[in-house]
Amino acid sequence: MKKASPDANTVETVARPVVQSVVSSSDNKIQAFGLSNVGLIRQGNEDTFIVDSQLGLYAVLDGMGGANAGDVASQLASEVIHQFVRDRNRDMAPKSLLKAALQAGSAAVYYEAEGNLSRKGMGTTVVACMMISASRAIIAHVGDSRAYVLREGALKLITRDHTVVDELVLRGSITEEEAERHPYKNVLSRNLGAKPEPIVDVQEFSVQPGDRILLCSDGLYGYAAADALQYIVGSGDRVDDVCADLIDAALRGGGGDNVTAVLIETTAVTPTATAIVRGSGAIAWWQKRHQYFEAVLARGFTDSALCHGMTEKDAMALYAGNLCQAIFHDLEKSSAFNVWTFAQNMAHAWLTTTTDRRHGGDWPTLRAGLDILIDAAKQMVDEIAAADAQLGFLVSIAIGRALTVAELAIGSILTERVREVEEQLVTIFAAAPTAPGADATGRFHEQATIPFLRNSMPMVNADVTSVLLGAVRSALHAAAARSTNKEQLQKTYLALEALATSAATGADVLAAAQELFGVHTFDDASISPVFEALDRARMFATTEVHALELQAADKLRVMRLISVAHQRLVTAAAGVVVDSAAPANERLQDTKQANAMLREQLQRAESKRALLERQFATATATTHG
Ligand code: CA
Repeated sequence: MKKASPDANTVETVARPVVQSVVSSSDNKIQAFGLSNVGLIRQGNEDTFIVDSQLGLYAVLDGMGGANAGDVASQLASEVIHQFVRDRNRDMAPKSLLKAALQAGSAAVYYEAEGNLSRKGMGTTVVACMMISASRAIIAHVGDSRAYVLREGALKLITRDHTVVDELVLRGSITEEEAERHPYKNVLSRNLGAKPEPIVDVQEFSVQPGDRILLCSDGLYGYAAADALQYIVGSGDRVDDVCADLIDAALRGGGGDNVTAVLIETTAVTPTATAIVRGSGAIAWWQKRHQYFEAVLARGFTDSALCHGMTEKDAMALYAGNLCQAIFHDLEKSSAFNVWTFAQNMAHAWLTTTTDRRHGGDWPTLRAGLDILIDAAKQMVDEIAAADAQLGFLVSIAIGRALTVAELAIGSILTERVREVEEQLVTIFAAAPTAPGADATGRFHEQATIPFLRNSMPMVNADVTSVLLGAVRSALHAAAARSTNKEQLQKTYLALEALATSAATGADVLAAAQELFGVHTFDDASISPVFEALDRARMFATTEVHALELQAADKLRVMRLISVAHQRLVTAAAGVVVDSAAPANERLQDTKQANAMLREQLQRAESKRALLERQFATATATTHG
């Protein structure tokens, strides 16, 4: 069912304006936000939503029917439901009010379809929530749009999809397992518009302070991993950020359908997840610090070249000690700044060229060292979770975020290298303006930033078995071999890789790069296509990894390898752009400005990668246990 993304320019593409709103109710106890996106495949958006905190009415509708009729159905039903509640909310009990509103919506769609041949058979799903107060809510639904409730860190589905298959399961005709593979899995048994008076499921439940209610269309849960939903809704981020992250997760998962999310939050008066992490979480971590050092030592960290020339005590204090403190302070402050700084210092000291160590440290050593520090941290989180599952869950989210940020910091260091190359170029130009770039062009390629799949430069890492390398190769190969409309993308990707790893210098590189991107000068605007092409190419490779027949742990490692390769490729390609800009003397002064943007771009690319990895990790964890 899931599809890889098409050759769309950006994931933000929308066919019609994205409707969104933040509204607070009069007593400020309820916050809500809604967001809808056309997705990556569909031409139009047939989803609609309602966020009306004054009425306390929220809904998501997902229309269906040919020739834009789905669009008409969801819009019409939404307007009728909204108006019905507005008109009658003073004289009807909330539960009957919501049910009657949905039925009025259905009748309107039904009669509209009856009177118009091109709209025959159109319909819409709906999931609606009425907040009667900050502590009571009513949910009504028809179809397969869903409501979830996040309570105490766990996200629970509270609606049952009205599909033909689901009815068969309820009747005991088929099992849940058979339902998963059933050809009519997505065929609805009920919708608004099929009959004037559809059967509406209505439920009332008590809401606790801090609860979050998520309403969404199948474009969300069909494309984002279940654990990604849990992670994002449970993150404690603001409702608008959560909605944006949810949409992003669905798009990253293929975005094969319109995707809509409405999030309703009641203000917490009891300790929030954030407060728990800041208090008990930070303390639990700090109490583990001695075990953490032991775990780092047990993994042979001090044998790493990173610790060369240091006593064991100094090395442990410098790396494990500082990271341990950084994690503690970040937990305490709900920030990620300390881990960011730690990772940046560590990577900078190791990778950057100095007078003593001309070429800096190599990437695999840094990666292996970081992996030891991170694995040991994860072991501590597991131990905390074994003692207190709830606390462990919250701490794992907080530490997971900090470690993601650490990866971003490394990404920014790699970009710093590009800046260094640029400065070298400037110096050389200043000294010898008549020989542009003569000594500088090859310099970038001396750095070990080339993808490890190159036979001339294999990855030196004991963790990479030939089986894993083979798996990575076959994933990349399968991605490259696709002959659909993504062919152009593959060509771009391969050309980029060739360019990034080329031994050619100066004018050749410049000409090849200019041809590839169809630009004559390298400026801010020409850097974007590099990242876009790379980002899309990586999504391909990732999709292929999903299809590989491997153990979950091996899949994760394959994923990590592709990430490393991609990171190198991003850096190398960025270097090509900077290199290519060099011969154009007059553009040199602009490069600094371009690099500021480059840093931002790289960070964005890295954060997208991190999200993807996170989704992938949770998806495989779910699939394989
Ligand atoms: Ca849909």
